[in-house]
Amino acid sequence: MNYVSGLRCRECKREYSISPIHVCEFCFGPLEIIYDYEKIKKSLTHKKIEERPKSMWRYQELLPLNGDPTVGTNVGFTPLIRSEGLARALGVRELYLKNDAVNHPTLSFKDRVVSVALSKAKEFGFRIVACASTGNLANSVAALAAAGGFKSYIFVPYDLEQGKILGTLIYGTNLIGIRGSYDEVNRLCSEIAENYGWAFVNINIRPFYAEGSKTFGFEIAEQLGWKVPQHVIVPMAGGSLITKIWKGFKELEAIGLLDGVPTKIYGAQASGSNPIVAAFKAGVDWIKPQRPQTIAKSLAIGNPADGYYALKTIRESGGWAEDVTDGEIVEGMKLLAQTEGIFTETAGGVTVGVTKKLIEQGIIPRDESILISITGNGLKTQEAIQDQVGRPLIIDAKLSDFEKIGAPKQRERENGIQATL
Ligand SMILES: *Cc1c(COP(=O)(O)O)cnc(C)c1O
Ligand SMILES: [Zn+2]
Repeated sequence: MNYVSGLRCRECKREYSISPIHVCEFCFGPLEIIYDYEKIKKSLTHKKIEERPKSMWRYQELLPLNGDPTVGTNVGFTPLIRSEGLARALGVRELYLKNDAVNHPTLSFKDRVVSVALSKAKEFGFRIVACASTGNLANSVAALAAAGGFKSYIFVPYDLEQGKILGTLIYGTNLIGIRGSYDEVNRLCSEIAENYGWAFVNINIRPFYAEGSKTFGFEIAEQLGWKVPQHVIVPMAGGSLITKIWKGFKELEAIGLLDGVPTKIYGAQASGSNPIVAAFKAGVDWIKPQRPQTIAKSLAIGNPADGYYALKTIRESGGWAEDVTDGEIVEGMKLLAQTEGIFTETAGGVTVGVTKKLIEQGIIPRDESILISITGNGLKTQEAIQDQVGRPLIIDAKLSDFEKIGAPKQRERENGIQATL
């Protein structure tokens, strides 16, 4: 059963048949997938979804493939956690964390978009896949290309974190580091895409790729018992994920699987790369490009492709946009780790930091349901916290040396014994 009938320009509404294209020939607007929601509504039920394997593909009718997925079949269905410790620290009643730091296989939400992109690339008959990336996309394309039998070319700013470089090279890809910012990498990739017949996941395959992000939203709704939180905080780089979480909620409502979407969506960026937040605060709908300078490299996009639509999503939902400094990002990472035992990357530090700020400012009320999006894993961005978490105490393997450091008091010894008994 196929529920996709073509592509449509978001601006002039002109329609195209399904092929690896991403912009309208007439007005250069971005293309979007057209689904037959009436047909999906007749076929898809809560029960049907719940009986399927626990992966993002349980929402297959709302994803743009012709057949079953062939790449990344186990991606998604990551934990949704009811927070105790962080909720207490932030002084709020009902807090949830959606944890894509443990997504499979490369520990970020990007596995969702890449599994759709590469499954679609296979349907189109591509043998070579490529991408421009701020790091996590590189990891995911390299891994899933290896698993899916594609050759891959990956373009990144040359000065990414080691975890992201090694976590790409290990899969045997062709990694090209560009002396320049992500925006320069992306510009080069657009030129390459025009001259080479490759599947650039975030360029010519982008309409298909981006749809994968909706599953982050679908899972939130299902995991909360087919309800959505009143406030959802989302990190923004290119601004695609935030629009797709909103779209996912709206789609579930349209096909009768959600009774209303009372959600306000909040966009989070680093102060050193905040073009979308700046436009929101200025009350304009055009984005002024920036030259990013932040430890949150995964979000460091100065000219976001979906910035305009991200702004629209935030405003339409009645949400807000905010940014945090590098210092606040590190504090956010530590706070999440020390209250919930979750080690997130800098992007998660951004969402935690922004949530804290918005609660303190009274923009997010303390007595309503709040969900923080955790989109990546802290083991990949160790440089950001290298000198911020202290050091281990190094001693010789002698009891007297251990006692000399003065840590274990008599009471701690006894409590420790009680705890282990
Ligand atoms: C790419 C990325 C984002 C943002 O995605 P966009 O859709 O480009 O806004 C958020 N978090 C992490 C960890 C990412 O890698
Ligand atoms: Zn158009």
